[in-house]
This record gives sequence, C-alpha cells and structure tokens, in this order.
Amino acid sequence: MSGPRWQTSKLSASPPFEKWDDWVEYESTAWPKKVEKHYRIVPSLCFNCEAGCGIVAYVDKETHEVRKIEGNPLHPGSRGMLCAKGAATPNQLEDPDRILYPLKRVGARGEGQWEQISWDQAMQELGDKMRQLYDQDRQDEIMYHIGRPGEDGYVNRVLAAWGVDAHNSHTNVCSSSARLGHQMWCGSDRPSPDWENAKTILLLTSHLETGHYFNPHAQRILEARRKGARMITIDPRLSNTAAKSDVWLPCYSGTEGAIFLCIARHLLETGAYDRNFVETWVNWETYLERRYPEADRTFDSFIEKLTDEYSQWTFEATARECGLRVESLRQAAEAVAEAGNAFATYSWRSAASGNLWGWQITRCLDLLIVLTGSYGTRGGVNLASWNKFKPTHPNMPEKHEQWNELLWPNEYPLSFFELSFLLPHFLKEGRGKIGMYFTRVFNPVWTYPDGFTWIEALTDETKIECHVALTPTWSETAWYADYVLPMGLSTERHDNQSQETHAARWIGFRQPVKRVAIEADGRNLSSTHEANPGEVWEHDEFWIELSWRLDPDGALGIRKYFESPGRPGEKIRISEYYQWMFENGVPGLPEAAAAQEMTPLDYMRRYGVYSVEEGRSEPPYTRAIPASDAAGAAHDPQTGIVSQDGAAIGLRLGDRTVAGFGTPSKRLEFYSQTLVDWKWPEYALPTYVPGHVHWRDLDRDGNEFDLLPNFRLPALIHTRSTVKWLYEISHDHPLLVHPADAQRLGINTGDLAKVTTAIGYFISRARLSEGIRPGVLALSHHLGRWRLQDTVGVSRMASALVNLERDGQTGRRLRQINSGGAYETDDPDTKRVWWNEVGVHQNLAFPVQPDPVSGMHCWHQRVRVEKAGPDDQYGDVYVDLAKSRQCYQEWLAMTRPAPGPGNLRRPRWLNRPLKPVPEAFVMPSQ
Ligand code: SF4
Repeated sequence: MSGPRWQTSKLSASPPFEKWDDWVEYESTAWPKKVEKHYRIVPSLCFNCEAGCGIVAYVDKETHEVRKIEGNPLHPGSRGMLCAKGAATPNQLEDPDRILYPLKRVGARGEGQWEQISWDQAMQELGDKMRQLYDQDRQDEIMYHIGRPGEDGYVNRVLAAWGVDAHNSHTNVCSSSARLGHQMWCGSDRPSPDWENAKTILLLTSHLETGHYFNPHAQRILEARRKGARMITIDPRLSNTAAKSDVWLPCYSGTEGAIFLCIARHLLETGAYDRNFVETWVNWETYLERRYPEADRTFDSFIEKLTDEYSQWTFEATARECGLRVESLRQAAEAVAEAGNAFATYSWRSAASGNLWGWQITRCLDLLIVLTGSYGTRGGVNLASWNKFKPTHPNMPEKHEQWNELLWPNEYPLSFFELSFLLPHFLKEGRGKIGMYFTRVFNPVWTYPDGFTWIEALTDETKIECHVALTPTWSETAWYADYVLPMGLSTERHDNQSQETHAARWIGFRQPVKRVAIEADGRNLSSTHEANPGEVWEHDEFWIELSWRLDPDGALGIRKYFESPGRPGEKIRISEYYQWMFENGVPGLPEAAAAQEMTPLDYMRRYGVYSVEEGRSEPPYTRAIPASDAAGAAHDPQTGIVSQDGAAIGLRLGDRTVAGFGTPSKRLEFYSQTLVDWKWPEYALPTYVPGHVHWRDLDRDGNEFDLLPNFRLPALIHTRSTVKWLYEISHDHPLLVHPADAQRLGINTGDLAKVTTAIGYFISRARLSEGIRPGVLALSHHLGRWRLQDTVGVSRMASALVNLERDGQTGRRLRQINSGGAYETDDPDTKRVWWNEVGVHQNLAFPVQPDPVSGMHCWHQRVRVEKAGPDDQYGDVYVDLAKSRQCYQEWLAMTRPAPGPGNLRRPRWLNRPLKPVPEAFVMPSQ
C-alpha cells in the first residue's frame, strides 16, 4: 500500500492492509474444529476518551456483526495500540442494558415510567416544541449540554445555524484552571508535549497510567524512558506512574506551585536557563515598566528582579512548605536543569483542578517551560493549537449575536468555559429558565458536585420545560428526562476528530462500521440507524433531521444549512457532508487520494485517518508572516506588535515579522496585563498561593483531612464504563488511609468510615495503604453508580439499587438496597458477576466550589473522618441542601465581576467554544 504509514514495528499483530477486505481467521467458538471465518476490517475511531485513537472493527462478512476491536496501525497518534477501554468497545455494543428505542416519559418527571415511541413522533414533537420557542422569541432558552463530544465542530455548526448561544460543556469540572493558566502565558489553552524526545519529563499526578490522551501519551513516555529520559512525578498518592519515576514528590496537595518556583529559582541561580529564548520571547520589558519603572530597562535587570521574586523558594523552605525531602527536590531541579530545552511537562486535571487558585499552579509550571526555552523544541512542549487540526465544514453559518448569562455569568469574566455546574443554583435564584435542554453523553447528576441540587432542578418543570437525553446508555441524569433517545457508540456514528497527541497534525474519521461494511457489499442505506442495533441513531443525522422538523419550510433561515450541496432544496446526506469536508476542508487530502485513484471520502473510509503534517522544521511562533498577510499592517516600534484592523497579527523581530504567540503582546506573558485589567493585579505573575484545603489549616486533632476525589482509574470511562470487562477489572474504590492515620482513627482495612464534608457525609470502606501520605485521603473518581428501579437504569453489574429519601425539610439521603451481584440476561456473563459493592457516589456530598477566576470546580475536600456508626450503611450519602446553597453563596462572593475595560463582559482575545460576534462581548447599558 502507499497510503498512510504503517505505524507499528516488525512484530505487528495487525493483518496486512491488502487483506482488510477479506481477512480470514478460525472461528474461536468452533474450537477444536478449524472453521474459517471471513471478516471485513473497517477503520474508525475509539470514543472512550478524548484521545481519538484509531481502531479497526472486524465485521463478520456473513452477519455484519462486529466481532472484535483492535488498534489501527495506520493511525499516527495511537500507532496500532489501544488501552483496555478501547478494546472493551464490543462490550458496549452488546451491553444487555443499553437503550435501543426512543422513550418518552409518562407520569411525573423522575418517576421512572416510560413508553416506547417512534422516532418520527419524537422528532416531530421536539421540532414543534422548538418551533414554538422561536415563535415566542424564546429560542435563547435552548441549551445543549455535552459531556464527551468526540467530534470537532459539527454541533457548534448546528447551534450557529440555529443562531443561539446554547453550547454548554463539562470543562469547569475538568480542566478550566489548567486552561486558564496556559492561556495567560502563551495564548493557547493546552500544551502538547513531545514526550518521546524529551530528556526530562515532569508529571503532575498519574499521567502515564491514566492521563489525558492516555494511550498516545503513555506509549511515547515509555519510549522516552527506554531512551533514557528521566521522570519526575508529583502526587500525594503512590500511583503506578509515581512508582515508575526517578523522583517521586508526594507533596501536600495544593503546594505544587512552590515546587515549580523552587526549580525556577534553581535554574536562575545556576544560570541553567535559555537566555536567548527568554530575552526574545518573554514580555519582560512590560514587567519592568509596570513593577519597577525606576529600574534599568535591560534584560540583566529583569533577571535580577526575577531571581529576587522567587529567592524565598530555597530547597529547605520549599521542603518545609510542601512536606518533602530536600534531597528529592534538589534531584528534581537538577533533572530539569540538565534537560536543556528538551523538557516536557503537562498540567491538566490533578493539582490544577483540585485546588483553589489551581490555575496559578499551571502558571508556575509553565515558567519552567519558558526558562528552559522548551516551547516548540524537539522533546519540549508544543501548543495544542499547533497540533490539533480543524477542518472547514460545509456552508458555515455566521456567528450568533446572543450572550447567554446562564452559561457566561458576569461574575466569571475569565472562566474556561461555561459555569455549567452552577446551572441549578442560577435557575434557583431566577436568573433565567430553560425551554429545551439537550444532554448528550453527559450525566451531571452523577458527575457534578451537589447532585441533589441537580435533581431538584431537573424535576422542576417551571425551570426546565423539556429535557432530552441523547445517550447510548442509561444514566442517573437520563432518568430525569422527558425523552431518552438512543445514540450510537464509536462504531455506530460519523465524526471528524483530531487531537494534539504528539508533535504532528492528523485528522481521523469515525464511521459506522456495519453501515460501511453493508454498503461495501452493495446494499445502499439511507441512514445509519438502518445498520445500527434496535433503533439507535447517529447524532449527525439526528441534528439534520431535527433542524428540518424545526424549520420545514425554511422560513427561519435554518433549513438552508442542512440542504445538500449538490441537490438544492433536498436534505443533506451524511456522506455528502463529509465528502464536501474532505474535498475542500483538509489541505493535501484530495491530492493524496488522487494519487491512489480514490476520492477523498473513499480514502478516509479505507484508512480512517490522514496525516496533515508529519513534523515541522521550525516552531510555529517563529514562522514569518507572508508579506501578503502583513500588507498594510500597522507596526508599533515600541512593542514590536504588528496589527491589522486593531488585532495583533504578529511581532516584528529585526527585519522579520513572525507569528509569535496567541497573547495580546504576541509574547509569552510573564506579566499578565489581562489579569491586572480584570481586577486580579496580585496574581499578574506566576505566584504560589496555597489552596483551599491547606495542610496547615487542618484540625488534625479533630480528624480533619484533605480528601483527593479526582484521580482516575485507568480502565474506567466516566459514565460509559458500565460494561463487563472493565468492571471486572475495577468495580470498587476503597478509601485510602495511611496506617498512622488509621491507627489514630481506630480504623482497619475493610471497616466502614464516615467522611463528613461541608454539606453532608458519605460512608465508604477503608483500605490502609502506605501509598498515600499521612493527612491525605484518596477515593477515586468513576464509581458509585446507582439506579432507582431494579431492571431499568444504569447497568446492574455496575450500579446499586437505591432509595432517595427526603427528611421533609432540606435533608436528602441516598441509601443502597443492593448492588452488583449475578443476574439473568441474554449474556451468560451477567450470571457470573461476582462483586457486590460498586462504590459510593461521593460527589453528591460535595458542595460547589468554583474558583473565582477560572470558574473551575475545586475538587479537593476538607473532610472529617470517623468510624461509621451502627446506623450507617455502605454507600450512604446524606446532604443538607440548605448548606449546599450556603456554600454556593460563599464561593460566589469571592468573585470580581465584569465589566472589564471597555465595558466588556470578557476579554475578546479569550476563546469560547462557540464564540459570538465581537459586539456581544459588550455589556448592555443599564
Ligand atoms: S486512550 Fe483508550 S479510551 Fe482513549 S481513545 Fe485511546 S483506546 Fe480509546
């Protein structure tokens, strides 16, 4: 073949590409007989995290069933490998508890009574309801709340066509603080390290085993380790990653920023920084001008002041603050210093998402990338915006003009992104209401903190008039929907997806493999649901159909965006959509396809992926701006900024105009004027700020602890892990307690422990472990699923049957009736379920704790622990809603609301997932 490069080694387990159309294996179930089985191997993308790894489905040529999933060796990100979650995809397809038909509630919302309806009825009722909102000028009450999109730009285009500011995400419980920290430095909200060529790797938390872009990153980190790279891991927990590191720094959580400033001090004092890089790219002159107007405006003066800024962070002082050994800190600092500009690091969830001011932890970490000059280098750190490829979609609508204050409230002008987890509180205080609420692959009742407040909002039809859950599986949130509509899994839908997995750019094509196989065998299908099980639709076709039902005659100006490019006035087919994209929106793909006598769509159907850029000779920020782009641009000789129509487009360096970074100054902003302008001057520089659960504040004699609830288990997938292979690996999550603490508490392994938070408590089972530092507790994310009926709801092997009780006032309690255990279905394996505890839903007992700047929910909890009492049962959760309301108000009071300069709601240079026209950023006059 001469398509994409085969990525695996000589020992590849993948069938040769030439045989993908007819691959023969012996049928395993016929053993010991040798019965030949013929497969068509169809590429697609995994959908079990955001990494977008390439998969291949073995589609039985007789039945068109998917028999197994393996890695696509042509995919440059995942290179033929998968993690356990990807390999478990067949479990999801065959899950006996998955939803196969559209359901509409009967009775009260949340009562759990459903009737099966046709898709035609569902579509018509939703289209009519939405049309009513438009006719009443209430279209701004539409909201689309996505958990895991798995696609780039498709639904944003739908919402833009509808002309509504309706996009809501889960980012504020995931990565907001990390994003804000990166953005303020470099103008891109996430890094993309070149792990495989790094000399020193610094990880916050268990990145290697569970991190963001887990499989593509982990394999490259391991490759670097094989080549001799050193690895430092910061985590209060002895994760598998920490255990594999050269240096493990189990600091008190929330003190990570001090470690980075200590390493920065070491680099400065030993001269181990990249002088040329820092002098050229950091906005040091602005810092001197604003902080030290009397000082010499020279780079040496800057270095002197910078060294002073962080001089307090000696190894000894840092060791005291962070609870570490001096020698470990020194080893870490020396490893960073010796890396030169091949220093790779990453901050995503973990410390940044756990702590108040977590974005400052990221700011401090990025200072190390800057000082080592590792931006864009081999073995250094690229920016996501350089490595993620965004194709052009067909017939793009104009930007919308609205500003949805339920999603973008004035209190959080710098948030990344929507304040989604505060939505029930906003609704409760009458900031607005929702006419049509779509949740897609999302489960706020279970995933978010303060879930009982979510249940209150979802059951109140005066606040949320209509809730449509678009989901492949049951969830705690879908239970509170009016319509539950089954959506396809990774091998049952189309998407384009690209992720910044390494120093290159690619675009992948997720496709419904059964449909592709059936059509390859000569039978054309008009929609993907004809190939999917039951009546499962793919979401792309759902949005097209719904848009037509909303605007059947085109009077709203919406329908035209969902018409065929080649058949005017007719509904677009999904193959036409991607055909247009691959022919017009992906540079180089048409030529690569033509070289193999294929259309671009056929190329993507055959290979599943295209490499847009395999590597680069120079970092993008040093690239010269073409003279044609800079023609007529203004140049400020003092700052070097080159701008056009008031927007900075580059930076003049000598006689060259280069792209620079995405910040207002086009440089790396050590001094952030944006933070100053938006009322946070004390945090203009990377600064160590203790978090909200600082070890010195804890009442240790009163058994107070810092609880870490936000680390992942590598085999689980948020709300889609409820399948047999994954739950057999991970079905329970003990509360990790250090033996010294356990002795004081009188708790042993297996005992029930009562963990009291600011708004209630939960009951978990303890496990003593020296892999957690004293004073800190850990209870993993992912587990504690529940259902309210025995045979309908979240998969029985993965959930507890529970009662939700009220005390007549503001108290709410969840109590488990039973959980796990064997049961009868068509799948004989459900009779073999041997586990009887499936975790505790701890998030219910957490108050909302939004960081006042990034809007990130600060996950770590200040808790009190004791042995459970005689009335307590495993899995109990109790919450007082009055206290959860009070916590919301206390955290809200920490904000410094808009407007900022120019009466703006938010700086225009900060991104939003669905950015409106610039005028929408201006606050309306009172
Ligand atoms: S890392 Fe695992 S779950 Fe994520 S896309 Fe890759 S194979 Fe799927």
